[in-house]
Amino acid sequence: MPFYNEEEIFPLLRPRLTEFLDNSPYPCEVIAVNDGSEDRTIDLLVDWCKRDSRIKVLNLSRNFGHQYASTAGIDYASGEAIVLIDADLQDPLEVIHEMVQQYKNGYDVVCGQRITRAGEGNFKRLTAWLFYRFMRFFFLESLPQDVGDFRLMSRRCVDSLTAMRELHRFLRGMVAWVGYPQTCIRYHRQARAAGTTKYPFFKMARLAWTAALSFSPLPLRLS
Ligand code: UDP
Ligand code: MG
Repeated sequence: MPFYNEEEIFPLLRPRLTEFLDNSPYPCEVIAVNDGSEDRTIDLLVDWCKRDSRIKVLNLSRNFGHQYASTAGIDYASGEAIVLIDADLQDPLEVIHEMVQQYKNGYDVVCGQRITRAGEGNFKRLTAWLFYRFMRFFFLESLPQDVGDFRLMSRRCVDSLTAMRELHRFLRGMVAWVGYPQTCIRYHRQARAAGTTKYPFFKMARLAWTAALSFSPLPLRLS
């Protein structure tokens, strides 16, 4: 779970995640990655992990960006199956149970596929809609549509992913690229529970550009 300037989320996240962990039928731990936050995020994480041994904290030396923070968490996670999820509660924790069910049915990758995206502007919705269709058509056919980074991955998938030390990382494409049986669970994405997006337009555009360049020679050939 990557965190960048997420201090506002703690009063909501802490009880929700604690309840999830307490009631989970399988043992879980949370790897929280502080991605160089400038607010009180790291203090709040350290306080939390002192009180709950299921919370582990990684503290990056500066802000590297969502994809790198997630990579650090995946590298340190030791579970049999790993779920990548944002800290802002946009992705309901309950969907994880459905993901585990599909994992038990034999899938290595279970993606959360957004049916709706509450609390996001028309521009973000439109660009995201276009992005996945464009990406699949031109660059990476196996990229699941309308799927962000919220997904469960099996240990063997994670091992393949951690072997890929690409500097420019588009994780959701890399997971699609490594293969293994994949499926999706459709869910309604909530509005951010607190705080504001840490993904302004230029970061989204940068990620899209990284995605396009990483999976096809077409942009280079065109240029
Ligand atoms: N995030 C991060 N580093 C960054 C930007 C974002 O670790 O440089 C985290 C952020 O705290 C959140 C997740 O990545 O847990 C997704 O970011 P956000 O919710 O702002 O993106 P959006 O849902 O608006 O696309
Ligand atoms: Mg978000």
